[in-house]
Amino acid sequence: MKPRIGNRESGIGDSDSVLDLTQRLIERRSLTPDDAGCCELIAQRLQPLGFTIEYLNAGGVTNLWATLGSGGPLMILAGHTDVVPPGPREQWATDPFVPTIRDGVLYGRGAADMKSGLAAMVCATERLVARRPLKGTLAYLITSDEEGAARHGTRHAVEVLRQRGIRPDYAIVGEATAAHRLGDRITIGRRGSLGCNLRVLGRQGHVAYPDKADNPIHRLAPALAELCATHWDAGNAHFPPTSFQVSNLHSGTGANNVIPGHADLVFNFRFCTESTAEGLKARVTEILDRHGLRYEADWWLSGEPFLTGNGALIEAAQASIQEVTGLTPSLFTGGGTSDARFLAPWGAQTVEIGPVNDSIHKVNEHVNVADLPRLSAIYERILDRLL
Ligand SMILES: [Zn+2]
Repeated sequence: MKPRIGNRESGIGDSDSVLDLTQRLIERRSLTPDDAGCCELIAQRLQPLGFTIEYLNAGGVTNLWATLGSGGPLMILAGHTDVVPPGPREQWATDPFVPTIRDGVLYGRGAADMKSGLAAMVCATERLVARRPLKGTLAYLITSDEEGAARHGTRHAVEVLRQRGIRPDYAIVGEATAAHRLGDRITIGRRGSLGCNLRVLGRQGHVAYPDKADNPIHRLAPALAELCATHWDAGNAHFPPTSFQVSNLHSGTGANNVIPGHADLVFNFRFCTESTAEGLKARVTEILDRHGLRYEADWWLSGEPFLTGNGALIEAAQASIQEVTGLTPSLFTGGGTSDARFLAPWGAQTVEIGPVNDSIHKVNEHVNVADLPRLSAIYERILDRLL
């Protein structure tokens, strides 16, 4: 396909170009982990600009890695082509995979999460590259598995690239982050999530003969009280204190005269950058051991927390958003997970900037058509400042 270069006179980019590419992406039914040709469409736009195209596919997941330029700094534009299932067709006003504009709003699955972000990035790149050579390297890392297990997506691609010695300076994830209006909010960090399935071991027996049994509920109770009362950290300016929450507690055979053989506890930490997964595990282990418990602990880490502090990327983002929208974005650390959890630990200053997120994962997902060229202009100005 012939690349469409934006209208440089307007300073806001070519609205038709971003809208058109967003629509072409929505038409592709890219339910996780099926890319449905989205990455190929993006690669067809990047290749004529001089990008080197490579696929780091794994486990049925499409991962596009495209680079232009050489040397530092390395800026990664990151995102995903996959979408969550649309749910019952009859709940949508129009077919979720037929992009439809009504009253200045574009409807379709992925309109906000996050095909408009991808289209805005591509068009911003086309305009910038048409204007001048880059100082440094611009890369795209696009996956078709962000909404699913995410094992073979960005996590895998980052591992491959890390082994090559590649180290990014900046990453922008095009997830929908605005609360009410484009530019009112960007995401600069996330809490970590650490979970554990704990089985406390005892010895089953008759309640009338406790000396011949070992009650795991009695053993667990004081340790659990201490876990619930523990102050893990005080949080910081960007995060609330780390929280420990029990989600499940099961024990007993159902009979009222049997001391059970084990007690099962499921708990989860949502933790801030004042704590680490390893540190929390060590503190829990110390409490369990000090109470003399015998147990099996099966831990899982969904993601380490990250926080991008004040630096070149946040400054460039704030200035660019201010110029295009007149708003000063709030710096947000809440919300669900995104692939930023894999990019930030790789060493990149990482932010998420995208359209209004109030319709993501819902029926009649949508984005304002007028926001598309403005989002693209924000990306272009950030790139202009840093590359
Ligand atoms: Zn998303």
